[in-house]
Amino acid sequence: MSEKRLLEMNEAGRSEGGIRASRSPCGDINVSFEFFPPKTEAMETTLWESVNRLAPLNPHFVSVTYGAGGSTRERTHATVARIVRETNIKPAAHLTCVAASRGEVDGVAQAYWDAGVRHIVALRGDPLDGIGARFQPHPQGYAHSTDLVAGLRKIADFEISVSAYPEKHPESASLEADLDVLQAKIDAGATRAITQFFFENDLYLRYLDKVRARGITIPIVPGIVPVQNFKQTASFAQKTGASIPPWLAERFEGLDDDPQTRRLIAATVAAEQVLDLVDRGVRDFHFYTMNRADLVYAICHLLGLRPKIEKEAA
Ligand code: FAD
Repeated sequence: MSEKRLLEMNEAGRSEGGIRASRSPCGDINVSFEFFPPKTEAMETTLWESVNRLAPLNPHFVSVTYGAGGSTRERTHATVARIVRETNIKPAAHLTCVAASRGEVDGVAQAYWDAGVRHIVALRGDPLDGIGARFQPHPQGYAHSTDLVAGLRKIADFEISVSAYPEKHPESASLEADLDVLQAKIDAGATRAITQFFFENDLYLRYLDKVRARGITIPIVPGIVPVQNFKQTASFAQKTGASIPPWLAERFEGLDDDPQTRRLIAATVAAEQVLDLVDRGVRDFHFYTMNRADLVYAICHLLGLRPKIEKEAA
């Protein structure tokens, strides 16, 4: 890590008198929350309980992921529509290039715009045959995320977020190639990147150094995943190219049948990660909530966020 960056981090992370920034929250923290569309009625109840619990924390936006099948896509649209209808939070709809023509994708984007959605998280998406298979674009579709970003720009004045990979995307030949793609997505119109989750903060900060060294100035918001289920997270990490450090595995060791302790460890791990990032100058966070509010709510509380209760008119 460069000396300049360390100095910057030190200045940003410590207030006068050397007090850790995370111990004296200044109200300058921005958070966003990611949800996935629920499959069952019970999951829908959990999702809405979570949205309603987290909404008073005044997130910058909440985003809803997009799957590959028709029914899961309908659930995304329905979830985004309900957020617009029933909350004051700004929604961001994820959209991918998978298994759809440009016309179909453009139609979805236009419908979002017409429904009042102003923010799209634009992604290529995973291959239909699963992560690891070769991505085959739809014959009349957008070939990759850069193409999609450019297409969205032509439809309306969306705010467009894209992905970023501190440990590179598994299909990319190198981190440099990955950074070229990030640059191309920005040139096409993206204004924010959200990272794949990571557990070693140095990985993210080194990546940020590389991004800034290229003259890229858009926010590169760290994606934080509270480890609700270690086995599941580890298996997902393996597929997506995110590393699981040995110390993380050790912390969850022997807890497979002890959900209570596991939850406490998960909260501790996520808190440690996020507070360290605050000390090192980071102020924006995107939480992969897995549709559960409690861990994320507690971490946001540590970050100094408090519910804003809207006063009823007298
Ligand atoms: P891209 O940036 O498009 O890169 C993917 C690969 O294509 C890279 O190897 C890159 O080098 C290559 N590439 C990109 N552009 C070009 C180009 N112009 N020429 C040649 N090669 C190129 N998946 C979902 O299905 N639904 C979701 O809702 C979803 N949400 C996500 C949210 C976040 C924050 C993140 C980080 C990921 C999300 N994903 C989602 C996963 C994502 O779809 C996969 O990681 C997918 O494999 C890559 O899509 P991308 O847009 O992230 O990658």
